[in-house]
Amino acid sequence: MASQPHILAIDQGTTSSRAIVFNKDGDIVALAQQEFPQIYPASGWVEHDPEAIWSSTLAVCRAALDQASRKGAEVVAVGITNQRETALLWERASGRAIHNAIVWQDRRTAEMCADLTARGHEPGIIRKTGLLLDPYFSATKVAWMLRHVPGAAERAQRGELAFGTVDSFLIWRLTKGKVHATDATNASRTLLYNIHAQSWDDSLLALFDIPASVLPEVRDSAAAYGTTDPEWFGRPLPILGVAGDQQAALVGQACFRPGMVKSTYGTGCFALINTGETAVTSRNRLLTTVAYRCDSRTVYALEGSIFVAGAAIQWLRDQLGIIRTAAESEGLAASLASNNGVYFVPAFTGLGTPYWDPNARGAIFGLTRATGIADLVRAALESVCYQTHDLLAAMAGDSATNPSTLRVDGGMSANDWLLQFLADVTGTKVDRPRITETTALGAAYLAGLQAGLYDSFAELEQHWRADRRFQPRLQKAERDQLLHGWAKAVARVRENHA
Ligand code: ADP
Repeated sequence: MASQPHILAIDQGTTSSRAIVFNKDGDIVALAQQEFPQIYPASGWVEHDPEAIWSSTLAVCRAALDQASRKGAEVVAVGITNQRETALLWERASGRAIHNAIVWQDRRTAEMCADLTARGHEPGIIRKTGLLLDPYFSATKVAWMLRHVPGAAERAQRGELAFGTVDSFLIWRLTKGKVHATDATNASRTLLYNIHAQSWDDSLLALFDIPASVLPEVRDSAAAYGTTDPEWFGRPLPILGVAGDQQAALVGQACFRPGMVKSTYGTGCFALINTGETAVTSRNRLLTTVAYRCDSRTVYALEGSIFVAGAAIQWLRDQLGIIRTAAESEGLAASLASNNGVYFVPAFTGLGTPYWDPNARGAIFGLTRATGIADLVRAALESVCYQTHDLLAAMAGDSATNPSTLRVDGGMSANDWLLQFLADVTGTKVDRPRITETTALGAAYLAGLQAGLYDSFAELEQHWRADRRFQPRLQKAERDQLLHGWAKAVARVRENHA
């Protein structure tokens, strides 16, 4: 192993920072993880302390590098993947942030977005950025900081401040301010970037009142981002790959061909379909986003999200207390021959793709005296599959390709019953890869490509290995009946507040 080159992947997530050292085959050689505090200054506001992001990242990198070196693994490059859209502004002179990071979940700019929508700005924004006018994305968060932090707007005008998503901030810190850059996938989530022209957009900058002087340079996802300062890891390491977390997972799942889909099942679910070099505009409110940009070639994806996936299981465990562990859900669901007509629409925070109904709330239908814990658990797992069906239907409608296979990952993908039902209800083969740490792996792949460890995407495709494939087995009539039951339940939930 000593002579084989390894890659350090930094996965800076919403609740924790992780560092994983991979060998060339994509096996995990070392791993370290550290959670950091979430800050909730007001209802709907979510912040992170930039120093906590940095110190946790530095600590896990050092720990993983240390483990790797004890195993004789030589790390030759760094890849970064990150929670997306979260926005930071810092002083160029000191590297100190002028405010906490405003996290993607933060809703404080809802009014600003509603106002811009009312003034008719959304269609133009969708056309240029592929996104929607929503607080989720970075631009209004930056605008908020420029307006509310005393002196920030003037300092930005004078060129004293730098903006970045978490990748940029880490690159700045790791290189001690030598590099202020981001990659095209992260740029594509800011609402300031024209994904067709692949450039920052002056009229969007003017609309949000953000001076161009704060912006990072946008580079390919596999590119040179400078080297880490020797103070951090004892020696300089080149940073060679960067991508936002969901895009990195698409790369880690080797979904390099148009029509290939990855779906990540964690707290929520994020699904991306590769649409090749065509940026498809959605008719179903899917987002159009940069999947990756390599050798100046941009590959696009359509993205959909389900707000509640694993969170429905967490709710059964923590709020209702009817299961002790998430893993128990598998045996309980399998203990029943059918769902007994019970449907659970877990619209705790509204419904995502393709409904985009923020006011819907959850409901359970079809309860009888015979309904028990297993029925509720099964209905929760089934709901994740039905929601995926609806999301895939929207994707198929937009991209005119029916995905033949779904590559899954995330904590819930450990559940075999769930994946079999997913295959049955979507009528699509479901593949679980051997390595489910796809987000970090994607960052490692991008850095490995740039480092010359891999020759091409074609070579990376060969690395992807299935752990297990789930084949659809359900008869059409039975499937239609289940989907009909679900559609009725969703319609009732939506009627309820109409
Ligand atoms: P995140 O990255 O969003 O924190 P993870 O990918 O770690 O999420 O997945 C955790 C989620 O998966 C939790 O919501 C948990 O309830 C769910 N989960 C974990 N294992 C299982 C399982 N075997 N069956 C069903 N759900 C599971």
